[in-house]
Amino acid sequence: MSLLVPQGALTIPSILKHAESIFRDKEVISIDTNGNTIRSTYAQVAVRCRKLANAIQRLNVEKGDTISTFAWNDQRHLESYFAIPGLGAICHTVNPRLYIDQIEYILNDAKSKWLFVDPQFIPMLLPILDSLSELNGIIVLGNADKLNELDTSTRKDLAWHDYESLIQNEAETFTWPKIDENAPSSCCYTSGTTGNPKGVLYSHRSTVIHSLALSLPDAASLSAGDNLLVVVPMFHVNGWSLPYAAAMTGAKLVLPGRFMGDGKKLAEIIKQEKVSAAAGVPTVWQSWVNHMQRQKLDPNFSMRVLIGGAACSEKLRRALEDLGCYVRLAWGMTETSPMGTINRGDNDAHTLSPGTPVFGVELRIVDEKGDELPHDGNACGELQIKGPWVVRGYIGQDNPNEFSEDGWFSTGDIANIHPDGYMHITDRAKDVIKSGGEWISSSILEEIASNHPNVVSAAVIATPHPKWDERPLLLVVPQNKEDFDAEQLLQWFDGKVAKWWKPDDVKLIVTLPLTATGKVDKKVLRLEYA
Ligand code: AMP
Repeated sequence: MSLLVPQGALTIPSILKHAESIFRDKEVISIDTNGNTIRSTYAQVAVRCRKLANAIQRLNVEKGDTISTFAWNDQRHLESYFAIPGLGAICHTVNPRLYIDQIEYILNDAKSKWLFVDPQFIPMLLPILDSLSELNGIIVLGNADKLNELDTSTRKDLAWHDYESLIQNEAETFTWPKIDENAPSSCCYTSGTTGNPKGVLYSHRSTVIHSLALSLPDAASLSAGDNLLVVVPMFHVNGWSLPYAAAMTGAKLVLPGRFMGDGKKLAEIIKQEKVSAAAGVPTVWQSWVNHMQRQKLDPNFSMRVLIGGAACSEKLRRALEDLGCYVRLAWGMTETSPMGTINRGDNDAHTLSPGTPVFGVELRIVDEKGDELPHDGNACGELQIKGPWVVRGYIGQDNPNEFSEDGWFSTGDIANIHPDGYMHITDRAKDVIKSGGEWISSSILEEIASNHPNVVSAAVIATPHPKWDERPLLLVVPQNKEDFDAEQLLQWFDGKVAKWWKPDDVKLIVTLPLTATGKVDKKVLRLEYA
């Protein structure tokens, strides 16, 4: 008999079992499409998960099969997060904001057998259903009325169910099958800003360890005393594992449904549910800040705000702090589950850094030849990462260049690392401006521009130049168009960066285009302005 600790705890059903037995009555709040609040508990969610597991098993889903979800942050999506991997199948969350041909590609690449779809997304999917060769059927995330409202006549050959009728008569008991903790639990595709999106698989083990690390005090610091609002979409990178971490720690879970970018609704939810911790990308927090400032509202309590997915400007950080928030910046990627670094906020020299690696993760920077660069705060190179929740490849690709034999993943981000471990992202490799053989960081220029009082948001892109190869062009959404003075904005850079870093020109723009995950879409800007 082995004297070592038995295997088995690092699986997703183990999180659910823990939540059900220890945090039975802790609330799970979900906002429905109409904005109504649905109140439930971990115990009730666990029962529905077992009913769902029985129902999915009856659909002949087997271990290793992929079930894809098109859903907002809500209770049914949460139940899918537990029941699908609990059966040994793969819960593949799809970003519904991707282009439809990317979605078609993704569903075929992932060999999706069933789709769990919010009724809102059915019309969008109907034209591609014919081309999904592995598809058996669709579960509409609603009740029988929702299904009846839809025109499904074009695909009568598929099995169509509504979620509530499907689980209604199922038994409340279910024995979760034995699962290898290294088996895949979930799947997500990268945003595919260049070429087709690339699929990554997370395992039960990587997800559980990632959720544990995310809950640590100097990370998201989650506890049973928290009311956690998950504004990061559950359709991207497991919602940063926050739904799992909440169930693990007993935090009350608040899921805002389709209202993730709606500052007014977020303000209502935050107030109503006394949110103490929340996570989202900067654009989401900007919408909340705008609403709070416009309405001159004061939240009257403090909230920890985890911000990642894109750089957070000093202006936004300060605005959040003025509203009583305690801000924690983080960096990560689809390939890293996503947490790589978190800023624990104890070093004033690094307030805008996304922080230091969380235990388990190692970082290094390399030059163009792949040689390691010093962690001296000056040397900039491509950031590489290694760790137990960093994936080891892409679905269907043999030995992709991004992954090394010894476990390092090349992120495509350019960064420097300080002797105390703080990392600063200076650019995406493809966004960096190469002027006269030297690099200019678009992120640093954007940060400076966005601190100007008459700038709401800014993006810097490279434009071709006959002498210098590339020069920076600044695109700005102004606060007040009438008072805008381009020359004065360019002078704003004097003394803040080297002269040759100063953008050559400024153009006003109404809004910055965003990618499907809420980041500035520089591909679109380059097409239009470069
Ligand atoms: P995704 O895989 O779609 O989640 O995007 C990951 C990319 O988002 C990273 O490679 C970075 O370029 C960017 N990103 C994430 N977090 C940050 C951050 N805190 N600061 C700057 N860029 C970030």
